[in-house]
Amino acid sequence: MTDPGARPPGGSHAVVLGGSLAGLCAAAALAPHVDRVTLVERDRYPDEPRWRRGVPQARHTHNLLGAGQRSLELLLPGLLGDLRDLGMVEVRMPQDMLLLVAGGWVDRFDSRHTVLSGSRDLLDWAVRRRVRELPAVEFREETEAVGLVAGHGDSVRGVLLRDRDPSARTGWSEPYEREADLVVDATGRGSRAPAWLQSLGHQAPEETVVDAGCAYATCVFEPPPGHTADWKCVLLQSTPEEPRSGILNPIENDRWMVSVAGLGGERPPLDHAGFVDFAKRLRSTVLYDAIRDAKPLGEVYGSGRTENRRRHYERLTRWPDRFLVLGDAVGAFNPAYGQGISVAGMSALVLRRALERAGTRGTGRIPAGLTGPLRKGIARCVDAAWMLSGNADLAYPGAADGPLPLAARLGKRYTDRLLKVATTDRTVATALFDMTHLLAPPQVVLRPRVLASVLRGPRTATPASTSPPTAAPASASPPTAPSPGPAAGARLPEERP
Ligand SMILES: Cc1cc2nc3c(=O)[nH]c(=O)nc-3n(C[C@H](O)[C@H](O)[C@H](O)COP(=O)(O)OP(=O)(O)OC[C@H]3O[C@@H](n4cnc5c(N)ncnc54)[C@H](O)[C@@H]3O)c2cc1C
Repeated sequence: MTDPGARPPGGSHAVVLGGSLAGLCAAAALAPHVDRVTLVERDRYPDEPRWRRGVPQARHTHNLLGAGQRSLELLLPGLLGDLRDLGMVEVRMPQDMLLLVAGGWVDRFDSRHTVLSGSRDLLDWAVRRRVRELPAVEFREETEAVGLVAGHGDSVRGVLLRDRDPSARTGWSEPYEREADLVVDATGRGSRAPAWLQSLGHQAPEETVVDAGCAYATCVFEPPPGHTADWKCVLLQSTPEEPRSGILNPIENDRWMVSVAGLGGERPPLDHAGFVDFAKRLRSTVLYDAIRDAKPLGEVYGSGRTENRRRHYERLTRWPDRFLVLGDAVGAFNPAYGQGISVAGMSALVLRRALERAGTRGTGRIPAGLTGPLRKGIARCVDAAWMLSGNADLAYPGAADGPLPLAARLGKRYTDRLLKVATTDRTVATALFDMTHLLAPPQVVLRPRVLASVLRGPRTATPASTSPPTAAPASASPPTAPSPGPAAGARLPEERP
């Protein structure tokens, strides 16, 4: 059965599967370049910023890194202003943070980097609101994608969908075809694309998995009455020796969203007393001190899957034209690094750039041969994040199959030293943030000035301070200007000529 009236006559039509952030970004990238975009989402969206089943991770802290802010604003101009107006909090990193990395507490200074902090429900709602304003985009809620429709040769000519139907025995209608010139799968970690490819006679992609055994628990708090502090956010990172981390994020309506995590098999408790007690056993008690008298505003929620997992679609030699996969469906990361949304945004920009180059706007068609090469561009976005999360997590017991390869061991030794030097050296710290915000390639931490400082080692003979620094520390570094890294006039790789 084919869905009647599914395509504008003579116009180009793209279908995006999955309406969370990767799907919304893809729809925003496609909208100026095709006549119609259909965004297919299994859930019914809540009218307000509220949790929904299809994005279970929305109960946990979400930070929008530099690359995520930049790419979302490029895709949906005005969005960052919306987010601030809606109460999301801009946190200058590390000036407004108590930041404990493996090498110690990081001095607080203006690196020009910020993270945007708020509830994930609010972020999704605000992005959705902007995408709904795009005339080319049609939302199709309570509709599930169940397969691809093969076209001529090695290509896809549509997708198999079914609609929620409470009167049907399965709760769903019979599947029907929806034709499209391009199908984009953004259905997240649970994507069925490997099986769909196999059903069309293609191979499933190879997978790489690095699992540090990270288990999250999150609770929202009202700060204690009269609370004042010179920080907005607390971030206590784990180490393989002390595999527990914690983050306190400010979110809209003067609340804190607090997540704690155990790695290597330790699971934080899901009751309030146990949660607070777990916070006491982090690498510092500052987070515990902040929340012990704070009022919990809801339950403690645990998280599901957090392993780093990438599917190497770019390695497949045969690929069905007019089909693309992006977002968590291609690369999903340990959430402790906060990268997923940024990679989704960057991947959507790669798609937009390809459409611009192909000159599709106003032509009523999407040319053949676009998606095969695009897989590599999307894989490069995943690479940038994987270099951090996938590689760093290899150091946790059980994450790697067998002993660490030499390159990984050397990389870890350099990173360990870098994280010590970055606690007091602002140029090194800024380069570190350029990299972790995905605004510069990982090689930024090998630039001559950074390399020299790291090889020289920490400037102070004394070990890193055991108590967190205040906002205007007497820095052990000379008052160098922040590195001329890309933080201020940041340009993502996709924007560079
Ligand atoms: C605990 C946790 C914390 C995180 N914290 C951060 C953070 O701080 N910063 C950050 O950048 N990232 C973070 N992430 C990652 C981030 O949540 C994802 O990268 C982001 O949601 C983009 O994912 P996505 O859109 O590809 O997939 P998802 O968000 O998983 O969405 C998939 C969508 O597809 C829909 N869907 C699924 N199957 C079908 C189907 N067959 N048909 C139709 N619709 C379907 C679902 O309903 C859903 O809407 C975190 C992740 C976790 C688990």
